[in-house]
Amino acid sequence: MECSEPGAIRDEELLAYLAGEKVRPFVEQHIARCQRCAAQLADYERIELVLTSKLFRFDCPPSHVLVKTRWECSVKNLLPRSITI
Ligand SMILES: [Zn+2]
Repeated sequence: MECSEPGAIRDEELLAYLAGEKVRPFVEQHIARCQRCAAQLADYERIELVLTSKLFRFDCPPSHVLVKTRWECSVKNLLPRSITI
């Protein structure tokens, strides 16, 4: 499937649109009428969903860091008394 106006919008603009960023009004209009770009946008959306589900805990600190932080909070009486280590 070909874009109805090749080069009319860039991939970066599709990604920005997907992220909810402000894009040129033309981008939204083009996606509404171009099957190829709408399909491309749907592909990016699927990829983002997969990545988000796979990387959801990617930045979570390792358990020994969490335990240490929790211990430090306990020592400094930063945790409510109901939380024990
Ligand atoms: Zn297009």
